[in-house]
Amino acid sequence: MARYTGPVCRLCRRERTKLFLKGERCISLKCPVSEAVTDRHSRAYPPGQHGRDRMRTGSEYQMQLREKQKARRIYGVLEKQFRSYYREANRRQGITGELLLAMLEKRLDNVVFRTGWAASRAQARQLVRHGHVLVNGRRVTIPSFRVATGNKVTPSGRAKEMILLRRNLDVMDRQVPLWLEQGDARLEFTVASEPERAQIDEDIQEQLIVELYSK
Ligand code: SF4
Repeated sequence: MARYTGPVCRLCRRERTKLFLKGERCISLKCPVSEAVTDRHSRAYPPGQHGRDRMRTGSEYQMQLREKQKARRIYGVLEKQFRSYYREANRRQGITGELLLAMLEKRLDNVVFRTGWAASRAQARQLVRHGHVLVNGRRVTIPSFRVATGNKVTPSGRAKEMILLRRNLDVMDRQVPLWLEQGDARLEFTVASEPERAQIDEDIQEQLIVELYSK
């Protein structure tokens, strides 16, 4: 159940794009890679003493590696688990890159993030770990739990009253993907179908990840 616990804005700066890892801060002017921040205050370059030197475009391998790291960081998955998702996607019939993204989307922490109950995937993960999320009426505390078509995801009775959850629903006002069917007052979601690539609004070139792992 390991997870990354270091500074997260560094991760966005390394990928030179917003990965939306911090919730509300990501949509504010405090974001160091925000385009709205003036040049003088912007830190939209890789972290570290030689960060600015690493701005140039890299080799093909570097592009593939960065794309994989970006996807991993967006979904909050460590290398070992990410690779096992790839292996499973590769074994299955279909387009490997799309299957890989669909698997990441179906993680319970991602589903909670998509519903808008949590400001970030890290917060969604915490809600799951603390037992605030039910799948088909049963408490599930494993963030990597994979939901299946027909599963009903709801907050626990206590979580429904949480100010944090209510506030996130109001403030974040997140667009719910079509593969999640919205129920009563945005507090009940059913997995209506498998997530299709067009319904996953993450800027990830999954083909580069497949090329990297199939070397
Ligand atoms: Fe930090 Fe969020 Fe901006 Fe990324 S998008 S740099 S996590 S504030």
